Amino acid sequence: RSKGITKGIRVPPLHISSQFDSGAIEVVSLDDPRNIELRIRRDTAAEFAQWFHFCLHGANGRNVVLKFLNAGECAYPKGWEGYRVVASHDRQNWFRIDTEYDGHVMTAQTVPQAQSIYFAYFEPYSHEQHLDLLALAGASPLVETQYLGATVQGRDMTVLRMTSAQAQPQDTSKKRIWIIARQHPGETMAEWFVEGCLERLLDVDDAVSRLLLERCELYVVPNMNPDGSVLGNLRTNAAGANLNREWQEPSMDRSPEVFLVRQKMLETGVDLCLDVHGDEGLPHNFVVGSEGVPAYTPRIAELEDAFKTAWQAVCPDFQDAVNYGRSEPGKANMALATNWVAQQFGCLALTVEMPFKDNANLPDPVTGWSAARSRKLGASVLTPILSVM
Ligand code: ZN
Repeated sequence: RSKGITKGIRVPPLHISSQFDSGAIEVVSLDDPRNIELRIRRDTAAEFAQWFHFCLHGANGRNVVLKFLNAGECAYPKGWEGYRVVASHDRQNWFRIDTEYDGHVMTAQTVPQAQSIYFAYFEPYSHEQHLDLLALAGASPLVETQYLGATVQGRDMTVLRMTSAQAQPQDTSKKRIWIIARQHPGETMAEWFVEGCLERLLDVDDAVSRLLLERCELYVVPNMNPDGSVLGNLRTNAAGANLNREWQEPSMDRSPEVFLVRQKMLETGVDLCLDVHGDEGLPHNFVVGSEGVPAYTPRIAELEDAFKTAWQAVCPDFQDAVNYGRSEPGKANMALATNWVAQQFGCLALTVEMPFKDNANLPDPVTGWSAARSRKLGASVLTPILSVM
């Protein structure tokens, strides 16, 4: 009697796959859909484990219980408190499923409505989407696509230079704004944010974008870590480097992604820099300043306050009440992108953090914090940028 036969109906065997762009999971046990045992995989060349992305096949209409056995040993165990796994049947529409965390094991359950269902830590953003985004933006007369060099695995490091169509090349009266995202590749909301930002910048009917592009040259790096993104890493590149700890002394061997972007920044100068991230713990959108660097002045503090006030006024998804707290003067970690930029250029440099969970002030029970909301937040950030430029 075959194991796959129940009451005369053939039940297809379960299968899990993760051999695709940003796929990552380890399967411990897959015999019983109500007790699927998994382990969250480490980054390919480092200890950090938190990102997962996989497809479960063969469980249509059955009660599925996923147990992430090593959740408590991951990089940010507190990230699982109040967190819900995202799932999708069509890889376009993602929704949250019931998830619990007992301090050791994270248990998520759902009843798939199709033979295949995808699960992930957050809505993925694939390398193909990244290339589509670069190509779409690059087709605009406002954009010049610049190739900076190659990642550890030979992928392109690309920056989009954007300014008004009439502008002369290297017009020195223009302010230089840098927006970089996804140094931590598992923080996919960062590239969704940039997508929303670019879409609005390219909207010739948008007055904020038009004025911003008249006053400024924008340099946008939608993905600082293409290798780590494809590899399904949370925090590191193919060489195991946490890129947001490499800014003081990047090298072409270990962190070419930072080396190349930093080199370009030194060439262009920087008047404002945003570095976009996702935060495992806090259910809020917030920014982190660079008040801990020696070059931080009352003028920068004023700009920072003006920026935050303007952002709150145009987008209630942004807030300034809950954050990491302020660094003590002179105690900043100078290997972080925004701290290095703030010190090197004496300018306003902010890390933008979005939640993996939800915005607790405006929760959405279906999607939690999502790609769509990240895009809207990215579009909204142009107003506070304009307010300080
Ligand atoms: Zn990050």
